Amino acid sequence: MSISSEIHKIKSEIPDKVTLIAVSKTYEEPCLEDAYEAGQRIFGESKPQEMLRKYNALEKDILWHMIGHLQTNKVKYIAPFVSLIHSVDSVKLLTEINKQAFKNNRVIDVLLEVYVAQEDTKSGFTEGEIIKFLDSKQLEQLQNINIKGLMCIGSLTDSKEQTEREFRQVKTFFDKIKQDYLPKFDTLSMGMSEDYMLAIECGSTMIRVGSRIFGARNYK
Ligand SMILES: *Cc1c(COP(=O)(O)O)cnc(C)c1O
Repeated sequence: MSISSEIHKIKSEIPDKVTLIAVSKTYEEPCLEDAYEAGQRIFGESKPQEMLRKYNALEKDILWHMIGHLQTNKVKYIAPFVSLIHSVDSVKLLTEINKQAFKNNRVIDVLLEVYVAQEDTKSGFTEGEIIKFLDSKQLEQLQNINIKGLMCIGSLTDSKEQTEREFRQVKTFFDKIKQDYLPKFDTLSMGMSEDYMLAIECGSTMIRVGSRIFGARNYK
């Protein structure tokens, strides 16, 4: 299957209100151009310098989403143009994004990454840490960020039951934050190539799909 037919197929499967992020990390520019030709305008990358390189090379109406773990010293590379940062996993990183957004005279949209997976290697806030942060009123000092919602990466597992349990848990937490703290919450980034339909059933509004569109990745 070609990149364009995969994109059309996925878009035909998912509801209109769900946003498809084409996860293009590790793929070269011609692959992104094929996706662009097929109408795709939102791309997800996991490395700041790689995102910057592609941003400079490709069409300017592309929206660039950072989905990978972001180090504070690399925020500056993407702050001028990044459209949404999904993977915010510490208050320190939020503070740095706010600072770089201010320098660039803009407000940067972000999602808070929630830790749900069983593996200890995964990053993210626990639910308790997010509540503590929101109760602390630190957010009032961060005028140049806009928290739009939550993101999660499920456990690497073949168990559909476990994945579903994790997705439902994050959706419940999302609803609670929206009700009690941030009524403007509208984005729940959840689901990848293997589980995006399940994620949508569980309330996802944004899916991050890479290998299903571009083929198996070659990690260098
Ligand atoms: C790589 C990646 C994806 C896409 O994974 P696929 O299985 O190729 O669809 C989604 N989300 C994050 C955070 C990733 O790092």
